[in-house]
Amino acid sequence: MRLSLVVPCFNEAEVIAKFHQALSRELTATGRPYEIVYVDDGSADGTLDALVELAATDESVRYLSFSRNFGKEAAMLAGLRYASGDAVVIMDADLQHPPELVGRMLEHYERGFDQVIARRTRVGDPATRTLFARTYYWLINRWADVELMDGVGDFRLLSRRAVDGLLELGEYNRFSKGLFAWIGFESILFEYENVKQTDRKSRWTFRRLLEYGLDGLLSFNNKPLRLAIYVGGVLTAIAAAYAVWVIVVAALNGVKMPGYVTLIAAITGLGGLQMVMLGVIGEYIGRIYYETKQRPHYLLKQTNMDPADRLDKTPAPGGRATRGRRVM
Ligand code: UDP
Ligand code: MG
Repeated sequence: MRLSLVVPCFNEAEVIAKFHQALSRELTATGRPYEIVYVDDGSADGTLDALVELAATDESVRYLSFSRNFGKEAAMLAGLRYASGDAVVIMDADLQHPPELVGRMLEHYERGFDQVIARRTRVGDPATRTLFARTYYWLINRWADVELMDGVGDFRLLSRRAVDGLLELGEYNRFSKGLFAWIGFESILFEYENVKQTDRKSRWTFRRLLEYGLDGLLSFNNKPLRLAIYVGGVLTAIAAAYAVWVIVVAALNGVKMPGYVTLIAAITGLGGLQMVMLGVIGEYIGRIYYETKQRPHYLLKQTNMDPADRLDKTPAPGGRATRGRRVM
């Protein structure tokens, strides 16, 4: 059994050597053949140089480097496409995902699980953030068609068939939390305590979290659109009932001229609602727009692998081969 690791790296020059050392130690201890696929996501610091250096001294190191920053989702996709192992572990390069857990993941894999998921506890998180996260997951699980879990991220082991399943999902807009849930297979969850990021702030500002949250809601169902139909229906019914009532009152009592406040409230209220609904529809159209362009998820700049080694043989977007040029 061969193990692959996929490690997306964006501006990780400072920690990459330390990470590699810690990871290699753990992997050697498992006594299994392994490869580590580092994906440099267009870093602006010396990450690529560090990877080239690692590859020169350690033959288990593979690397892919993007032409610019395409985001972690794209980096994971690239890594999964090139990882050749029977099982693949995805982990962060910033040492927030303890390499010691890989051995534990392997044990579960050997017991037959296709997805071994590390779930971080929220120990030490700010209370507001925990509350926000809990509410969000409660909400999204009532809505989305796949089940998403609090504290579950990308740190996980996937069996070969799970990876192949993921690679069949060619969508441009990749919400990987949802994709992992969508493929299914036997999964097992275990908890670990997250390592605090000390040297820099998390990329996850409140606003990014909010946007990510919306992504999650919109990527996996069309229920918000259905909600528009329901709300529209209910409001139309209320408006019709109100109109009948006004006419009846006018017929009985004669016409006076009240209703200014009602009118303004109705106009602004309905206007706002329509804007929201338009926004929801717009979000979906925007997604369709991006999907129909069929652009590749990333462009390769440099690698020490043969771009033809890509394991998924799904036709490249637009019928063209997404072969990155081999520079070295
Ligand atoms: N990462 C990436 N591309 C990006 C941003 C991040 O490949 O555009 C990588 C990063 O190097 C790290 C992992 O994704 O290995 C998680 O990123 P980060 O630690 O910034 O996120 P957080 O831990 O706050 O979720
Ligand atoms: Mg991190």
